[in-house]
Parts: sequence; C-alpha cells; structure tokens
Amino acid sequence: MTDCDEIPADHPRHDSLVTRHRIEAGVDAGITSRQGLIAQGRGEAFDYLLGEETIPSADRAARAAAATLLAAEHPVLSVNGNVAALVPEAMVQLAETVDADLEVNLFNRTEKRMAAIESHLEDHGAREVKGRNADARIPGLSHERAKVDADGIKAADVVLVPLEDGDRAQALSEMGKTEIVIDLNPLSRSAQVAAIPIIDNILRAVPRITDHARDLAKAGPEAIEQARTDFDAAEALDAAEARIRDGL
Ligand code: ATP
Repeated sequence: MTDCDEIPADHPRHDSLVTRHRIEAGVDAGITSRQGLIAQGRGEAFDYLLGEETIPSADRAARAAAATLLAAEHPVLSVNGNVAALVPEAMVQLAETVDADLEVNLFNRTEKRMAAIESHLEDHGAREVKGRNADARIPGLSHERAKVDADGIKAADVVLVPLEDGDRAQALSEMGKTEIVIDLNPLSRSAQVAAIPIIDNILRAVPRITDHARDLAKAGPEAIEQARTDFDAAEALDAAEARIRDGL
C-alpha cells in the first residue's frame, strides 16, 4: 500500500491518490465499510470532472457554511466511516473552531465500527464524541439508520452532514434542521435538499470551512450575517453542474 507521505504535493492526481489511500487504510482499520469504497469511487469520478479543485461557488458555499455554523445555537458535525478515514483531524479542528459537537452516524451501524470511529477521532484530538447513546430517532427512517443522540443531532439546529445518504439527508431536512452537505455530486439527493450544498472533495472542503470560520470570527457579526444571506444554494448547484457537464 502506498504511504500518503510518499505522494508528492505537486503530483497532478495528489488529492485523488491521498483519498484512495486513506479510504483503503480506513477499511483495513475497520472504520470504513466496504460500501465506502464504492462511494469513494463515485466521488472520485465527479472530482475528476470538477478538475480536482475547489471551484469558486464551492468556496462561497464553504464561507456560508462557516457563517452558519458560527451563528448556530447547537451545531453538530456528523461523521461516518468515509469522513473518519479521510479527514479526522480536520473535523476535530472544525468542531473546535465553531464550537460544535461531533457525532458518529453510520448507514450500516455496528457497535464495533461505532467504537472504532470514536477512538480514531479521539486519537486525532477529539475530546467528546457523540453517537453511542442512540437515545433518539429521526422520524421516517428505518430502525438502525434512524438512531441519533438526543443531546446531539436530535437537538441540533445546524448539522453538517458530509457524504450523507440521500434518505437521511431528506429526513433531517424535514425535521427542520439547517443542513450543510459536502458532496462531489451536485445531483445527489443530499446536495439537492441541503440549505448549503458544498460541491467539493471533503479533503479540501473541511479545512476551507475552518479557515473561513476563523476569518469570519475575527471580522464580526455583520460579516457573518452577510456571508449567510449572500449565499444561493440553487446557484451553487448550477455552477457545479455547469463545470462538470461543460467544463465552464
Ligand atoms: P443520494 O442518495 O444522495 O443521491 P448516492 O446514493 O449517490 O446519493 P452514496 O453512494 O450513498 O450516495 O454516497 C456517496 C456520495 O458521496 C456520492 O454522491 C459521492 O459523490 C460523494 N463522495 C464520495 N467521496 C467523496 C469525497 N471525498 N468528498 C465529497 N463527496 C464524496
């Protein structure tokens, strides 16, 4: 297996190679499910078409996401097996920067994977990881996929759900949560139901949200409000689709 550190930063397929390597290691460590490999392959195809770079509309979405997280009463960042494998440290840093909870949420939930992801996040600096209590449900979903923490996602006003399954994204938005989705496919149901869809590789998107959050926190409440109100979700989805279809 290739070591991530051996991939030169200026390699034209750098992000893609790092992503593959981390997902592979995640599967070996029992953090990522085998279905996670398929999700990764699908994402990679979209990233290729986007030019493996953050397009300007995705940067604006990341800024709006940062503002929305900063302005939230109770923001929660949801972590699944791909997210834990790809950006554990970046998720912990974002949670600290915007004062959000981290909650593990799995499509194929097993106690073993829940525990593996929790300790993986702790190894990367997380102080508290939610998701194991599973003492509340998301209405409209079947049993295992519906489980959340009562004082986590259930009580959140804003949730960041990277690489979320479309059904659950829809159910969360029907619960009235303000949803921020990171997904490379602008046509995925998750991206379509999000208040803020960030069409970008999670590897690039999460540190970018953190950078914007640090900037906005310094700039103050007016700048935060402006970044939230200036954002147009439909425009961001259209811009990403135009880049993918026409290279615009
Ligand atoms: P939906 O049900 O929302 O239409 P889907 O069934 O296509 O989505 P899945 O296959 O469950 O979704 O999840 C994979 C999603 O995650 C894909 O949309 C893919 O583009 C996205 N994805 C995979 N890897 C990444 C990544 N590194 N960064 C951002 N998005 C990613």
